[in-house]
This record gives sequence, structure tokens and C-alpha cells, in this order.
Amino acid sequence: MSVALGMPGMRAGDPRPAGRADGGVASLPSERPAVPTLLDRFGREATDLRISLTDRCNLRCTYCMPAEGLPFLPPPALLSLDEITRLARIAVTEFGVRQIRFTGGEPLLRRDLVDIVRAVAALEPRPEISLTTNAIGLASRAQALAEAGLDRVNVSLDSIHPDTFAAITRRPFLDRVLAGIDAVRASGLTRTKINAVLMPGINDDQAIDLLAWALAGGHQLRFIEQMPLDADHGWSRESMITAEGIRERLAERYTLTPDSAPRDGAPAELFEVREHGDERMLGLVGVIASVTEPFCSDCRRTRLTAEGAVRSCLFSHEEIDLLGPMRAGAGDAEVADLWRGAMWAKPAGHRMNELGFTQPERPMSAIGG
Ligand code: SAM
Ligand code: SF4
Repeated sequence: MSVALGMPGMRAGDPRPAGRADGGVASLPSERPAVPTLLDRFGREATDLRISLTDRCNLRCTYCMPAEGLPFLPPPALLSLDEITRLARIAVTEFGVRQIRFTGGEPLLRRDLVDIVRAVAALEPRPEISLTTNAIGLASRAQALAEAGLDRVNVSLDSIHPDTFAAITRRPFLDRVLAGIDAVRASGLTRTKINAVLMPGINDDQAIDLLAWALAGGHQLRFIEQMPLDADHGWSRESMITAEGIRERLAERYTLTPDSAPRDGAPAELFEVREHGDERMLGLVGVIASVTEPFCSDCRRTRLTAEGAVRSCLFSHEEIDLLGPMRAGAGDAEVADLWRGAMWAKPAGHRMNELGFTQPERPMSAIGG
């Protein structure tokens, strides 16, 4: 949803507001209107909350974490079950947030994950609750999570070949991930999505294998362009597989037809998949072109880091702490206003495509993807 603020319009794909010839930004409102929602200066309203539950992980994906040496937060610095529930309640009742996704680091590392899901599912109005996970350990917890109120799961899986999986994640745990995905199905949860990042010379030649596997299992596979959020700061525009490159690789076996359903703020552009020369639709595949075809102008996200700070954008250099004030006794109204202020300052876009772009200090695992 967006609110008219008399702002210069933004095209989808252009994260910047209309600029003046001197490079300045034309007519941004300075005063936040007195609306309860998480409105920003560009008229966007955040209704989709991502909460990072931990900065720790049991994998070390090369595009996300370093092999070793990343310092982790001490447990008392993390949001507790009660603090997560309180923030989720504020989001749902004050701001009209409708979707809550738990992420990390690896959210399954939280022993109280089932309790967190149960507490958030008890909120009124009840938000849709989803989980982004590497699925390690999901085999034994999927049923309890589904019973607690989890609605959907996104599993990150970049290869179904054990050697490639181990090379990317630096851990030999493919079998555990596949068992986790099977357990989600057995728990009765549907609409499971698989997220994959393609990297040149590592798994880009496996895009078709991965899609064939996902289609056979009835999962929607989404390829995500690799973003400059790795702890090693090794990303380069030249060495990433673009959305166009992803579509080209898939076209070697499949005909992709743009899905006619409205995108409605979703990051993935969806395509119907068919074998060449065959009319039967096999399923959908998504391409998330965060770098080359950004969708910032329609962004509806607000994020909380594992230590309870608001990040208005994945690529923000600023965070607004909510946990400190909460632990110092701030009431809901004060916390909500801090959160609204943080989102009001949300940048127009990530500007990854511009000269002078600087990568955020925190890697994806510490922000909450
Ligand atoms: N550990 C969980 C997982 O892997 O699903 C949740 C956290 S992880 C940071 C969330 C998502 O971010 C994953 O789908 C992962 O592939 C993606 N991700 C991490 N680093 C990325 C990067 N540099 N570019 C694009 N996606 C990235
Ligand atoms: Fe862990 Fe997820 Fe990052 Fe991989 S992408 S290292 S699974 S947080």
C-alpha cells in the first residue's frame, strides 16, 4: 500500500525519487503526517515485518558468512520470547502489519522457536507467519511448528549435489536439509518455497537440475541475485549471475512465460514453466532481481535485527534501537513512535547500481535476510 504525499512518482525499477539538476532531491516532506502506520517519506507503508531471531548459523554460506572469525552476540543481547511477542503485537495492532517472517542467522537455532510462533499466532488480528531457514533440524521440529501456527516455510538450498552444497555452505549437511523439506510436507504445510543463489563456476550450471527437482517436489523455486552482503566483502557486479543470466540458463531446457497474476509488491517476478514444445505447465519459478531490476519503489518491509533494532532497508547504514528503550521501561506508544521515526527515514532505494555505493558493515546473517 502507498499513501499519496505529493511526491515525485517513482517507476518500478527506479529506486530514486525524481532528482533536481543539482543532484538534490525534490520536495521531500520533512514532517511525518500523524498516521499510525509505518509510512516513509516516499509514501510507502510497511506491512511486512521480518524479525531476525539470532545472528548465529550452523552453515557458512560463502555469499553470507566468513569461514570463521565472525563475532556473535551474547545471548542476553538477543530479543527474548516476550520482547519478540511485544514487538510483534505493536506491529500488528498499531501499524497494521499483516505478515511476519522469522529469519536470522538460522532461526531454528532458537530453542524457543515453537513458543515464539505460538505466541505470535495468538495475536489479534493474527498475522501470517512464515520462516526462512536452511532447514537443518527442521525434520524433528516441522510438526510442532505447524501445530504452533506456522503458515509457510522458505528453505534456502543452492544445490542438490552434495559436493556443491558442501562447497557453498562449507558443511556436508545436504541430507539434513532434504529431510527437513520432506518433514515440512509431512506436517501438512503447503506453499513451501526454495530460495537459491547462483554463483558463476560454482552452481550456475545446476540451475536446470535444481528447477527440475523443485518442480517434481511441487515447490516454488526462486533464484535470488547475489547481493553485496557477504561478510568477506567479495561481491562484485562482474562476478554475479544476473536475472537475465538466470533466465538464459533456464531457457536451455524450459520455456518461461511471465505469470499474469499481479505482482502485488512481491520481490519475485514469476514465470510459468514448460518443457520446450509441450503445453503442460509444470509449475512456477521466481527470479528476484534485487540488483539489476530493483523493486525498492514498492518495498513494504520493515526489519528487526536480533538485538532489537529497526532496519528500514537491508542496505541501511543506520539502525534505531528499540530494545534498549524497552529494557529501560519505555511504553508501547514510545516504542511505536521510535519505530515509526526509523521507517519515516527509510531511503528511497539501495543504490547498489550507483557509483559510491558502500556495502553495509553487517553481513546478511547479522541483518536477517
Ligand atoms: N539461515 C536462513 C536461510 O539461509 O534461509 C535465514 C537467513 S539467510 C540470511 C536468508 C536468505 O538470505 C537466504 O535465502 C540466503 O540465501 C539469502 N542470502 C544471504 N546472503 C545473500 C547474498 N549475499 N545475496 C543474496 N541472498 C543472500
Ligand atoms: Fe546461514 Fe542462511 Fe547465511 Fe547460509 S544464508 S550462512 S544458512 S544465515
